[in-house]
Amino acid sequence: MIDLGAVRADTPGCHDLVYLDNAGSALPPAPVLREVQAHLRREAEIGGYRAASERADDLEAGYAVFAELLGCEPHEVAFTDSASRSWLAALDAIPLKPGDRVLVTEAEYHSNALALLHLGYQIEAIPSDESGAVDVQAMKGMLDERVKLVSLVHVPTNGGLVNPVREVAEAVHSVGALVLLDACQSIGQLPVNAAELGVDIVSGTGRKWLRGPRGTGVLVVRDQAGLRPRLIDGKAALWESPDKFTLSPGAKGFELWEYGVAERLGLIAAARYAMSLGIEEIAATVSGRAAHTRSLLAEIPGVTVHDLGRQLSGIVSFDVAGRPAEEVRDRLWERAVAVSVTYATSTQYDMTRRGLDRLVRASPHYYVSDEQIAQFAAAVTEAP
Ligand SMILES: *Cc1c(COP(=O)(O)O)cnc(C)c1O
Repeated sequence: MIDLGAVRADTPGCHDLVYLDNAGSALPPAPVLREVQAHLRREAEIGGYRAASERADDLEAGYAVFAELLGCEPHEVAFTDSASRSWLAALDAIPLKPGDRVLVTEAEYHSNALALLHLGYQIEAIPSDESGAVDVQAMKGMLDERVKLVSLVHVPTNGGLVNPVREVAEAVHSVGALVLLDACQSIGQLPVNAAELGVDIVSGTGRKWLRGPRGTGVLVVRDQAGLRPRLIDGKAALWESPDKFTLSPGAKGFELWEYGVAERLGLIAAARYAMSLGIEEIAATVSGRAAHTRSLLAEIPGVTVHDLGRQLSGIVSFDVAGRPAEEVRDRLWERAVAVSVTYATSTQYDMTRRGLDRLVRASPHYYVSDEQIAQFAAAVTEAP
């Protein structure tokens, strides 16, 4: 069981706010804040290079921390500055040729879909089943040897469900294609074990459920993917003589040399913090908070919860009859309740299919108390 008093005491922002935007950018806990602030101070005292070398062991340990968190080997981990950067770096390394097919799910996130569309790929959206999750049977019917990549969103940004991953990965591997798991909304909320899930590539961000600093991301490129980075800098290779260089092994080549060291240290602290609470514990607690949120919303006249799926995530999406989503968000903010709005432009396939344009999104983390969720529901009821 998560000790609510302890995690709330560790969360400076959670007392004055009912913070329900963890799918956007969660409130970092005190150990993350301390790490970032201390390192920025140290950079000001002795300079960025020396400050980083003082923490070299801790920075290197970050690969093992994330390997444990994400079920892979330390050399399969790369740190980036966002989930999209991770996703793009992986895509860039996949040798796609004209005629190759790329499948996505209806939950596909705009940045991923846009990158593929901009490059001119024919992308095909796998239909959803009656529960709203990816239809694995339908996907099997679409798979052939020309499919080279399947992009799977674990938890959609616009609410509701958790997609099945292992079944998808097994089927996709039977035709020799790669599975790229967008775990942006699942890392820090749910167990994400690359080996157990059987995926080849995982992308994620620091600032969402993991509660890390902004401007941080992670990429897992498993050895089985057989990918080497294409766009590299001095981090990825050693320039040994004017016409000779050697690419370093492992996923580190997907990183660039320069990065925010304070933020990286904060990200590592966030992962350690999550693992110290226990990812299974976090998942169970978030699931309970979200169920409570959905059940209180269901009692409010005019409110419709739009979540789909057999397994539900910590992201609760809803609308209020006759009230624009932005107005609901802004009225709630006046009552110290933070929620966000999710738009069809972020998840076109899914929102268009469901005839939805925008929804209010409430994403309670484990540090939000049941009393605060009740406060949120009362604010939704009262807000004019
Ligand atoms: C937020 C989000 C992303 C992008 O993450 P960034 O860190 O902003 O690049 C990708 N996929 C999903 C499902 C998301 O919710």
